[in-house]
Amino acid sequence: MQVLDLIGIGIGPFNLSLAALACPTPLRTAFFEKESGFDWHPGLLLPNSRLQVSPLKDCVTLADPTSPFSFLNYLAVHGRLYSFVNRCDATTSRREFTQYKSAGCKTACMTR
Ligand SMILES: Cc1cc2nc3c(=O)[nH]c(=O)nc-3n(C[C@H](O)[C@H](O)[C@H](O)COP(=O)(O)OP(=O)(O)OC[C@H]3O[C@@H](n4cnc5c(N)ncnc54)[C@H](O)[C@@H]3O)c2cc1C
Repeated sequence: MQVLDLIGIGIGPFNLSLAALACPTPLRTAFFEKESGFDWHPGLLLPNSRLQVSPLKDCVTLADPTSPFSFLNYLAVHGRLYSFVNRCDATTSRREFTQYKSAGCKTACMTR
């Protein structure tokens, strides 16, 4: 039987942050989601809707700016960092932010 240090029920932004911040620690974690994959308020992702806060208020940056689970790292990995900076727009679309969280979910929430 595997002994875990931390269990999260539901993989919304809160537990996604917890999973990402727990990654570099020795904690053994498991996160359980009732849906088949990550989604952020499904049905409310209206076309062209924008994030209402800075995307730097992501899963990790304010707690650990060096984390590989940051929004800026996600943009860099997907070749979109320069276009984001050159847009001179302090925010981003809810669609892109959902894609960012979904990508982090695939790695941060695996049982360790
Ligand atoms: C339309 C809309 C727009 C918003 N826009 C912004 C924004 O731009 N910026 C911002 O900061 N905030 C925004 N918010 C606020 C938003 O609620 C929070 O940012 C965030 O989604 C809260 O995260 P959470 O993890 O606490 O909860 P949730 O996002 O509600 O996630 C909970 C998760 O737990 C799962 N779950 C529930 N019960 C169980 C169970 N029994 N077993 C397993 N899984 C379970 C659910 O399926 C879900 O995936 C917005 C909210 C809405 C409704």
